[in-house]
Amino acid sequence: MLEDIKVRCGCIAVGEVQCDKCRKFIENGERYLLNYDEQENTQRLCIDCCLECGYLIHEEEKGKQITTFLSYD
Ligand SMILES: [Zn+2]
Repeated sequence: MLEDIKVRCGCIAVGEVQCDKCRKFIENGERYLLNYDEQENTQRLCIDCCLECGYLIHEEEKGKQITTFLSYD
């Protein structure tokens, strides 16, 4: 199911957003990942699920830890 995903987009939750994988609610202002599959269905993933699926990496830049969403571009 996740293999079909073509576009990944890091988003900031506005209002109440629910993770489609673990069903956790993503709070207002939290980051999440928006995916589109071939049927143009959207899927929202919380940070925890992104990390689990390898869609997120933690990097260090100038001593600060930053979180980066992996993308195709
Ligand atoms: Zn989740």
